[in-house]
Amino acid sequence: MSTIRVATFDGPGSSPVIRSVPHPQVPSQAALIQIGACGVCGTDLHILKGHWPRPLPWPFTLGHELAGVVVEKGSELKTDFMGQPLSVGSKVMLPPLMPCGKCYYCVHYPETANKCLTPVYYGRYLGFKKPPHLWGGWAEMVYVDLEELPGTKIYKLPDDMPLRIGTLSEPLTSCIRALHRAVRVGGFRNGDTVVIQGSGPIGVLAVAAALEMGAGRVVVVGAPEAPRLALCRRFGAESTICLDDHPTPEARVDAVRQIVGGFGADLVMDCAGHPTAGPEGIEMLRDGGTYVEMGQFTDAGSIDTNWHRFCTKDINLLGSWAFTANDIPLGIAMLDRAQDRYPWTEMQTLFPFSEDGISDAIQSAMDMRSVKSTIVPYEDLG
Ligand SMILES: [Zn+2]
Repeated sequence: MSTIRVATFDGPGSSPVIRSVPHPQVPSQAALIQIGACGVCGTDLHILKGHWPRPLPWPFTLGHELAGVVVEKGSELKTDFMGQPLSVGSKVMLPPLMPCGKCYYCVHYPETANKCLTPVYYGRYLGFKKPPHLWGGWAEMVYVDLEELPGTKIYKLPDDMPLRIGTLSEPLTSCIRALHRAVRVGGFRNGDTVVIQGSGPIGVLAVAAALEMGAGRVVVVGAPEAPRLALCRRFGAESTICLDDHPTPEARVDAVRQIVGGFGADLVMDCAGHPTAGPEGIEMLRDGGTYVEMGQFTDAGSIDTNWHRFCTKDINLLGSWAFTANDIPLGIAMLDRAQDRYPWTEMQTLFPFSEDGISDAIQSAMDMRSVKSTIVPYEDLG
């Protein structure tokens, strides 16, 4: 093969164009990987709709759920990212958006290195090389060079894993990480009831991930019945709620509550990405439950809210309503310990116990003339 065919897109809304690129030389730390299979992801669809938050080097080749076979390899490229030996014939996958390992986020927030400031994308920094490129999996081959871009990561797939199964490793990993986010805040325990919003590929894979990670019951809210919801049940969802039969948020929330029982689900995970899924989904939770927003992956959020930013910023958003009985001693102990360290009494304006005094106390608080109006029936009580 003196040339390699790649599918490129000229920009959002354009059709694919098959172009030929020269067969590259393969230096010592590079590899040429023949693509066996590559998925089409919701992110690809978003990119083609113009929803990607950063500039993209159009025309370029999409496809980041790729699995292939190493067909040429430099002598110095000996192992994959995990240290497993690589050879010609090895089955591999190549994830997109790999952290560079050197930027501020990579060094200081390794758990959030997915927000790397200079990620390696399809084997090239964004806009680094003139198109067309040998990267992106909707192609006959991809080319990677770890000397040029040390952040590039190759992962060996098991020899007996069909490549089309291997393509699912990247989206499945997204689901596993999302569930781990819930584990880290104590929001996902063995036996928990999980509701998945969305029955696309991420929703289906989230069913498998939730069950493998210990969910007791999994319910999916999505559409359409065929093929998506039927497949979710084949993957082990106990039941499914179809948007076609439950057209309003209220109907869907009621349906979830009827299935999971009175208080709602322990964990709800948005894999749908619809801008209103979040506000709807939190009503499917029991009080004290955990919500993970992984569906709103791009800036295609609602124009009315910035809800999608929970996902794109990879943040922890925690609600906190009052306290429990076991929290009160903490407040008493802190006041006792720190009584001399803060001007506690300066926040208080005192009012006598009388009708006028109570009225003044309330009005001062309303008018923000006092910080903490405090009614004192017996000033010398202690
Ligand atoms: Zn980085």
